[in-house]
Amino acid sequence: MLNKKLLVIAATCLILSACGQKTDQLPSDSNAKSSSQTQPETPTENKSPATKPAQEIDNKAGNGSGTNVPSKDSKEQTSAVPEIKYHMNKVYNIVPNEEGTEKKVVLLTFDDGPKNKEWINGIIDVLDKHKAKAIFFVNGYRIKENPELLKLIHDRGQPIGNHSWDHISLKSQPLPKVKKQIEDVQKIVKELTGDTPVFFRPPFGEGGDVGRKVAKENKLLYMTWSNGSLDWTLKTKDKNSNPDKVIKNVLDQLHPGANILMHELPWTVEALDTLLTKLEAKGYSFVDPASISTETTTNANK
Ligand SMILES: [Zn+2]
Repeated sequence: MLNKKLLVIAATCLILSACGQKTDQLPSDSNAKSSSQTQPETPTENKSPATKPAQEIDNKAGNGSGTNVPSKDSKEQTSAVPEIKYHMNKVYNIVPNEEGTEKKVVLLTFDDGPKNKEWINGIIDVLDKHKAKAIFFVNGYRIKENPELLKLIHDRGQPIGNHSWDHISLKSQPLPKVKKQIEDVQKIVKELTGDTPVFFRPPFGEGGDVGRKVAKENKLLYMTWSNGSLDWTLKTKDKNSNPDKVIKNVLDQLHPGANILMHELPWTVEALDTLLTKLEAKGYSFVDPASISTETTTNANK
């Protein structure tokens, strides 16, 4: 049966190629123009200017996080730039701008990378499975060590946030030092990905007035978190039980708008699919960071 079918197909192919006419119009339309490259998205390094500096969100259709739309293929953009529908309140929860917008959302964040290709891919595989975006708050010194990992996060469509260069407490540092800690990260991320971060999280949650000021000058939305997974307190020796602890910690503190702090750590990678599944089962969805207003002037974070 199968063999017969194959024979027919093979015969048809032979006839077609013998005739020589059909073959050149095989791939119907679009492929024809660039016959040499068939892969859908060429990972060009500097795709930059297409996306404007992400801070320009005066008109609210604006560019949100600026890091997430893989602008390559304009006609095939299934994920349009999301509308700004949320803002951050004083305790760093995500709150709808208007009545009627879904309140049961959480913001997913992963700090202290980029460290490890497997972990990053592990996290993003799960995010993709759940159609979720997360902010990856990165440190400059790690980007310097692993520039390709920063690009990996960006190329896989996840937004990148600024977590300072050296991962030091900023609150009692002099202004020039804090500026350097924050602005050098802005620069290197822009250089490597073409996009400038619009979110900032100070290491240890300790930005102080000086960190807030510099963040604001750089049009960065300053945030700590409102739901700590405590994944950073767990130890390698307990690695088997750690994923359950991460899940429990997050669920114990769960509330609408929760800003969930996690890290690029192996047990968090392992916990993630179950965690997201449980969150969805409780009626939560994952807020797209690009739908959060980064304006720092009004109600939001002062
Ligand atoms: Zn950190």
